[in-house]
Amino acid sequence: MKKITVLIPAYNEENNLHRVVAALDELTSHTAVVADNGKEEQLNAAAYDWEYLFVNDGSRDNTLDVLHDLRKQNRRVNVLNLSRNFGKENAMLAGMDYAKGDALVIMDADLQDPVDVIPAMIYWWRQGYDDVYGRRRTRGKESWLRKQLSVAYYKMLQKVSDIDILPNVGDFRLLDRRVVDAICNLRETQRYTKGLYFWVGFKKKEILFDRDDRWEGKSSFNFSSLLNLGIEGLTSFSNAPLRISSIVGIIVSIIAAIYLLIMLGKILIFGEQVQGFPTLLSVIVLLGGLQLVSLGIIGEYIGRIFNETKGRPAYIVESYNEEKK
Ligand code: UDP
Ligand code: MG
Repeated sequence: MKKITVLIPAYNEENNLHRVVAALDELTSHTAVVADNGKEEQLNAAAYDWEYLFVNDGSRDNTLDVLHDLRKQNRRVNVLNLSRNFGKENAMLAGMDYAKGDALVIMDADLQDPVDVIPAMIYWWRQGYDDVYGRRRTRGKESWLRKQLSVAYYKMLQKVSDIDILPNVGDFRLLDRRVVDAICNLRETQRYTKGLYFWVGFKKKEILFDRDDRWEGKSSFNFSSLLNLGIEGLTSFSNAPLRISSIVGIIVSIIAAIYLLIMLGKILIFGEQVQGFPTLLSVIVLLGGLQLVSLGIIGEYIGRIFNETKGRPAYIVESYNEEKK
């Protein structure tokens, strides 16, 4: 019997967990109908051995206790407890390390990822696809600005990185064991998992779905954490910012050299007095600004090197399935 692990990172999700388990139990107790190019196929979810692996990412509420209670009632539930909040990216790596399944389904604890898409994922996995990812047709309740920024960001990321990182594709997906092992081998601690799925390759299949609104609580990703994740994606998959700052530097230097020659010519041939302190000032300020930006960009990469050379683990496990005495 093939085993499927559902990986659910959870950070302050005490009120959503019962619902998640109930939804998964409901899903795995019946046969679902899956559409394949107009044909309808049956998929019996009960024919698989299921594991629900929750990763408690240092929650400050009762998430851990709720999970242990759930584990007492349901032998499919496994609880991996991290020693503090390491962030969703690292929590997912922890889950991948501990997952036992032949396939791994990643979903959020807030029920934004509809479980009824999972049978279709399994169906395509059995057809030979290694990475069946959900692509959002709609994005749930989100501000207009967040949507626009997200679209613009992915356009840019696709241009400057060598791999296709698709918009509206998140972590809701099914991965074959081979893909999970490949991703577990990438031990960088500043992770941008969305890029890693594409970096490792393998046979991919897209499924469209509608993203629901968060069931309870509020999103832990605010504007600044999304901005951080965005910079993470850019700097871990592309050297373009460094390249751009070199190119801007070269262009500005050439213009400056030409300008200097013209000035010198004017002084030598016509004996003109040097004029224009305001221009001088603005040029100095402009160049100063450009230099600071370039330094910042270089610093961004050096910071990454610094963090990775320390060789620290991406997460620390406090307990797996055992309760605190
Ligand atoms: N999450 C986590 N660690 C964190 C932040 C979030 O494990 O530091 C989990 C969270 O419990 C949820 C998923 O990651 O299962 C997505 O989080 P959220 O709903 O806040 O993000 P959004 O849906 O707004 O992208
Ligand atoms: Mg959410």
